[in-house]
Amino acid sequence: MSNLELGQRLHAFIVRSGYREDVSVLNGLVDFYGKCRDIISSEMVFNRIRRENVVSWCSMLSALVQNHKGERACMIFLQARKEEVEPTDFMVSSTLSACAKLGGLELGKSVHALAVKVCVEDNIFVGSALVDLYGKCGSIENTEQVFSEMPRRKLVTGKVAIFKATLLDSWIVEKNRVHVFQANDCSHERNSEIQAMLSKLRREMKEAEYVPHTNLSMFDLEEEERASEVWYHSEKIALAFGLIALPYGVPIRITKNLRICADCHSAIKFISRIVGREIVVRDKNRFHNFEDGLCYCKDYW
Ligand SMILES: [Zn+2]
Ligand SMILES: [Zn+2]
Repeated sequence: MSNLELGQRLHAFIVRSGYREDVSVLNGLVDFYGKCRDIISSEMVFNRIRRENVVSWCSMLSALVQNHKGERACMIFLQARKEEVEPTDFMVSSTLSACAKLGGLELGKSVHALAVKVCVEDNIFVGSALVDLYGKCGSIENTEQVFSEMPRRKLVTGKVAIFKATLLDSWIVEKNRVHVFQANDCSHERNSEIQAMLSKLRREMKEAEYVPHTNLSMFDLEEEERASEVWYHSEKIALAFGLIALPYGVPIRITKNLRICADCHSAIKFISRIVGREIVVRDKNRFHNFEDGLCYCKDYW
């Protein structure tokens, strides 16, 4: 039985039982259907919630963004505003990402103003969504301004290309410094060590008979990553940096503003075993906790 079928049976059980009015159960269903790419069921459950709470709004918003329904996501955000729901950093960053995808600069700007008003603009996800928005909508001055206001920005190393347009890809924090990497990035001050680490990993993986995902569906990759060889995706570069810069025993935490691709996911699982370290990748949708060759998402994301 697939996860979706299992969920549908559970849903039917919920409807028959006394839980059909339970808002947290329904929020879970909104989230579940969203993750199963069944956005119609997700919205249907959401519409039946009588007393939605902030989690309901967040779940609906995230389901829509995950399913590339940017316009609906923006509408849900506006509806939440109408109902005077105090926007959380999550709601703001999701809506900004939706605006970035749609090229909705005007709405994005008003969400930005709102972020300032409710004091979530220095949240790192909101900050990177703003950079993404202004980058994609070609508003370079705004990108620079947001970037210059991001926390710890003077400590950021990595590509200046950030301003050039598209994205802030993967980053990692080391002793209060934020290190930003893009696909094929060779600009870091410790680049030679990073490249040496990448070659070492590649060698060890080959010896341990790792099979790379060569038949990656293009749909699995975000646009800008299609162009580069999967081995040089930003999260792998960030990981190599983490391995050389962070002391053994400290989990390596990487943040990425896109969805992790299938190859990076399986490569990082493999690497977590080879190097014996805990690796956490927070991507656009969720946390991936890699340990000893496995990820806690059970390959479902
Ligand atoms: Zn990748
Ligand atoms: Zn995972």
